[in-house]
Amino acid sequence: MPWQPPTPIQIYQLLPKTNCGKCGELNCMAFAVKLVNFETLLEQCPPLFEDSRYKEDLQKLRMMLSPPVKEIVLKSPKKTVKIGGEYVLHRHELRYINPTAIAIDVDDSMDRDIILQRIEKIEKFEYEYVGQRLRLDLIAIRSVSNDYKQYAKTVQLVAENTTYPLILCSVNPSIIEAGLNVLPQEHRPLIYAATKDNWREMAEIARRFDVPLAVSSPGDLEMLVSIAKTLSEELGVNDLALDPGTFIGVGGLSYTIKAYTWLRYKAVQDLWKYAGYPLISTPISVWSLDEGDIMDKMWWEAILGTMLMTRYADLLIMHSIEGWVLLPLVIWRFQLYTDPRKPVAVPSGVREVGKPNEFSPVIVTSNYALTYSIVLSDLEKAKINAWLVVIDTEGLAVDVAVAGRKFTGEKVAEVIRASNLDKKIKHKILIIPGKAARVSGDIEDSTGWRVIVGPMDSSELGKFIEKEFTESKIQELST
Ligand code: SF4
Repeated sequence: MPWQPPTPIQIYQLLPKTNCGKCGELNCMAFAVKLVNFETLLEQCPPLFEDSRYKEDLQKLRMMLSPPVKEIVLKSPKKTVKIGGEYVLHRHELRYINPTAIAIDVDDSMDRDIILQRIEKIEKFEYEYVGQRLRLDLIAIRSVSNDYKQYAKTVQLVAENTTYPLILCSVNPSIIEAGLNVLPQEHRPLIYAATKDNWREMAEIARRFDVPLAVSSPGDLEMLVSIAKTLSEELGVNDLALDPGTFIGVGGLSYTIKAYTWLRYKAVQDLWKYAGYPLISTPISVWSLDEGDIMDKMWWEAILGTMLMTRYADLLIMHSIEGWVLLPLVIWRFQLYTDPRKPVAVPSGVREVGKPNEFSPVIVTSNYALTYSIVLSDLEKAKINAWLVVIDTEGLAVDVAVAGRKFTGEKVAEVIRASNLDKKIKHKILIIPGKAARVSGDIEDSTGWRVIVGPMDSSELGKFIEKEFTESKIQELST
C-alpha cells in the first residue's frame, strides 16, 4: 500500500481548531489546505507545540505528513542542503521534494593550490536557466592517503574556504573522526561510509557527533538493508543514507538502475522502512576503472549522473568539474524537480538589463519563466539597456495571461509602485508586448503612464527600440 496524501479534513480534525491566526492564515482549515499542498510547515502553528493538550494530535499529524523516504539535513555555517524527504515514485503523482544534491570531490593527496582551485570552481559554478540560478551543492572530501593528520589538514583547509556543506569520505573510522574533530560545530556533514566491516565504529562516531551516516554495500542489497536495520534498530542511528553501488560495463548499469529502483519502490510503494532513506550514487567510481580514456570517464559520469537522478538518486558524488559534464545534470535536475502542477515562474519585480539610465526604455513582460528568459535573452543579444517590469501572471505566458485576466493594469501598477521605478527614471513610457495590446487602455488607466504596444515577438524588440525608442528619443518625448 503506497503512501496516501492526507485530505485537508483529516488534517483539520487534528489541528487546534481555534482559528487564532497565529500561523498567518485566516483559519485552521486554510492552514490544513496549505499543509496538504506542502506550502507550509507544522511548526507555523505555535499552539500545537506550546499547549500540551495537543501533544497526541501533533504526533498523529507528524506521522501523517512524514515522508516514506526520510529527509536528511546537511549543514555548513552558511548553507543547508536537504536530501530525501520524498513521497512518490512518479513525479506526476505529487512532485519531487528535495532536488538531487550534487557533490564534487577533493582528496587529501591533492596539492593545496589544486584543492583551492577546485573549491573556487565549485563555488563559482552557476548557470542561469529560465530565470533560475542552477548551482552545485556539496564538497566531498576523500581520504586517499589514509593518514589521519593529512586528512584533518585537508578538511580544515576545505572548511575554511568553502560555504558548502561537506561529505567526509573514508571507510576508516579514525580518519572520519579526525575530520570531524577539526570541523567547527556549525557543520553537519554526511559521513561516508559504514560498511559490513566497520558499521559498529561508524555508528558510534555518527552518534557521538550527531551527524548522518551513509551505508555502502556495493552489489549486495541484502547486506545494505541489513546494516541499515541494525544501525537504526539496535544502535539508534536513524539519519542514514544508502549507497547500493554504481556500476557500468556488462550488466553493471542494469544492476545499478534496478537496485536504485527497487529500493525506492520498497520505500514508497511498500512503505518498507529499511529502504526509506535517501539514496547516494557515486558516478565518480568510473575514475577507478582501468579501461577508457579521460573523455570516456567524463561522458560516463554525465550519463550515470543523469540516469540515476531520474532513478531516484538523492545525492551524486562526482569528480568532473567541467561545465559540459555538469550542465546536463543541473538542467535535468531542474526539469525533474519542478512542480508539474504549476507553470514555472520567476519572481515579479523590476530587473535591470545591461546598464539602464533614467531615459532607458521600460519593457513589461509576464513572469512565466520561459517568456521571461526569452525576453531577457533577446534584449541582451540586441545590447539594449532597459528596465524590465516582470508582472505576476501566476506563471502564465502573455497571451494566456491576458485572456485569463492575469495580465492587468493593476498588476503593472503594483510592480511600479513596489519598486519605486518612477523615482529612478525621468519618463513615463511603457512598452508592452504586442500580445497584450487589448489591455493597453487598462494599463494606461491604472498606471497613468503612456503605453506603447511593442512587437508580437520579443526577437523584434531590439529593432523596435532602436527605430522608435532609443534613450535620446525617449528623452525627446519626455520633455
Ligand atoms: S495557528 Fe494553528 S490553531 Fe491558530 S489558526 Fe493557525 S492552524 Fe489554527
